Amino acid sequence: MIQETLKNCTFLDEKIRSLMIPIERVAHVQQNNSLEHALLVLVKSGYTAIPVLDKETKLNGVISKSLILDSILGLERIELDRLHNFKVADVMEEKVATMKLSETFSKALALSINNPFICMTDDNGILKGLLTRRSLLVYLNQEMFQKK
Ligand code: AMP
Repeated sequence: MIQETLKNCTFLDEKIRSLMIPIERVAHVQQNNSLEHALLVLVKSGYTAIPVLDKETKLNGVISKSLILDSILGLERIELDRLHNFKVADVMEEKVATMKLSETFSKALALSINNPFICMTDDNGILKGLLTRRSLLVYLNQEMFQKK
């Protein structure tokens, strides 16, 4: 039964590890990048939000289009100059949905209710990949309804 198989299954398990987008394919920025650079990466990649990493690929936070737009809103106009003046670290969200690879599929499912993606890290906080709500739903749909 799928429920029993997945309950204690962790992302160290090869079978579900492949649900994760590996770090090599994750679009990201660094804390000291300008907001302009971050906005360019977000718009060009088409993603709403992406992780902020340090040089050792340790997870520091998440930056999104809405956080950036919020930060350049003046009282009566959009203050584009702020895109050059502010760094990613000034506006990023530090509270991020995060899980270790050794944690369970059921935890991922619960976290995905309120988060479009989860950052998967090792014990040192190094980002290993992303798990999207979409990939979890595709997998569940496949396992529950498509398998004969
Ligand atoms: P999706 O379910 O593919 O629409 O992805 C949901 C969200 O996860 C996107 O809007 C991004 O915020 C994030 N995301 C998905 N894939 C990537 C990636 N390769 N690099 C960075 N962020 C990603």
